[in-house]
Amino acid sequence: MYIDTHAHLYLEQFEEDIDLLIELILEAEVNHVYLPNVDSSTYESMMELAGEYPEMLHPMIGVHPCSIKENYKDELKFAREKLESEKFVGIGEIGIDLHWDKTFHKEQKEAFETQIEWSREMGLPFVIHSREALDETIETVTRMQDGNLKGIFHCFNGTEEQANKIKDVGFLIGIGGVITYKNAGVKEELINLPLDMMVLETDSPYLSPTPFRGKRNQSNYIPIIAEQLAVTLDEKLEKVKEVTTKNALDLFNTPIFKK
Ligand SMILES: [Zn+2]
Repeated sequence: MYIDTHAHLYLEQFEEDIDLLIELILEAEVNHVYLPNVDSSTYESMMELAGEYPEMLHPMIGVHPCSIKENYKDELKFAREKLESEKFVGIGEIGIDLHWDKTFHKEQKEAFETQIEWSREMGLPFVIHSREALDETIETVTRMQDGNLKGIFHCFNGTEEQANKIKDVGFLIGIGGVITYKNAGVKEELINLPLDMMVLETDSPYLSPTPFRGKRNQSNYIPIIAEQLAVTLDEKLEKVKEVTTKNALDLFNTPIFKK
C-alpha cells in the first residue's frame, strides 16, 4: 500500500467527482490520504469529507502561512478551538511563504511558532509549508526541537545540505510531483539521501506529476511519483513503497491504521 501524506481533496476542484475518485485512489493502492487544512474557510468541507471516509482520509488542523493576514489571531483562535474539541492526526499545514507577499512575514513567523508549540503540547506531528523561506523554517524547527517535535517538510525542493539539516533535526521530507519534471534540480539533490527520511505526497489538486502537469492533481498519481523516486535513488519500487509507507505510519503514529 501507498500513502499520500498531503492532499487537499476537500477543495472545490474535487466536488463533482470525489466519490469516483476515491475508488481510483484505492485502486492505485493508496489506502490512506492525509488532509492538511488551509484555514477556517476550508474546515467544514474537510471535516465533512473526512467523515465520509474515516478509515482512509485523516484530517489535520492548522493555519496555512498564506492565510496569515490582518485577522490571523482569529484564524489561530479558530484552529485552537477545533484542536481542543475534535480529533486530528497532526497540525498542518503551517510555515512561512514569502513568494506572493512578504507583508505578514512577522505574523507568519509568530503563527508558525505558536502552532509548533501546539504540536508539542498535543504530541502531534506537524506539516511544514515553506516557500522561499526554507533556511528560516529549518532554523526555527532546529531552535525549537527538544526531542519531541516531529513532522514533514512538505514539497521539499531544497539542496542536499538543507535536507541533511532536516535529517539531523529528525524531520522528514515530502516528495511530490515536482520530482517528475524535466530539469527538476531536486532530483540530483536527493540522490545521496536515505529513503528513511522520505514520504510521498501529491499536494492535490496542485503540482501534478508528468504527464498530467498543468491538470488537476489526484492522490491516485502517487505511484507515478514513487516510480520516479525509485529511478532517482536507484532503488526497487517495492522498497520505495514499503519504506515511505512505514515512515508515514510511524510519523502519524496512528495504530488503528496498521491492522
Ligand atoms: Zn498543501
